[in-house]
Amino acid sequence: MTNPALQLRAVAQEYGQGDSVLQVLKGASLTLMPGEMVALVAPSGTGKSTLLQIAGLLEKPTSGEVILGGREASALSDDERTALRRNDIGFVYQFHHLLPEFSARENIMLPQLIAGLPRDEAGSRADDMLDYLRIAHRAEHRPAELSGGEQQRVAIARAVANAPRLLLADEPTGNLDPQTASYVFEALEALVRQSGLSALIATHNLELAARMDRQVTLRDGQVVPREA
Ligand code: ADP
Ligand code: MG
Repeated sequence: MTNPALQLRAVAQEYGQGDSVLQVLKGASLTLMPGEMVALVAPSGTGKSTLLQIAGLLEKPTSGEVILGGREASALSDDERTALRRNDIGFVYQFHHLLPEFSARENIMLPQLIAGLPRDEAGSRADDMLDYLRIAHRAEHRPAELSGGEQQRVAIARAVANAPRLLLADEPTGNLDPQTASYVFEALEALVRQSGLSALIATHNLELAARMDRQVTLRDGQVVPREA
């Protein structure tokens, strides 16, 4: 049997707020199978970013299990977690977080170089992705010289450059006008479908969410199916 790409089991997350405790997640569970694209649609403040940060091993939950590719994250050493994050997980945020001093092409190359790929291989893979996302003509430009939609396409390319198993996207088109959002989302979807990775995408865009395999929401700190 194939392992799920991601499994969250009874994940709870609490934040201290002065004297009180804010319980953001209260036993959230979710299983993402390989190749599955799932939209996370829920109002602001309900814990979407928290859930994604925990799924991506950027934050440790108060309790519960995060299982990636069959391995329970809390049982791993810090080095193993870092390796898993680097090699198996790609992130896309609302704001691109590209490095301003580097070109689009270099931004896509960097995670590959960090992962130990030779420079020419990383470069040729970056070129393929730029081609695929139809921004090859912008390869040598720095992020500040790119439009919002181009920046997000570079950010998506960077996130999947290392061929991760899981893509986590936190409102990836939240900062774009509707037409650009739809275009960028199409690019993301095509890339995910073509490479067979799984994706969990937080979005407020119901039209885009409807194109995913399924939709979930957060209700009272738990993940539940969202009736479209
Ligand atoms: P969403 O992404 O759905 O808007 P978040 O996961 O960002 O929601 O936040 C959920 C709740 O948790 C909010 O009330 C937020 O203020 C709170 N929160 C998030 N991160 C922290 C933190 N590091 N410390 C304290 N409170 C936090
Ligand atoms: Mg958020």
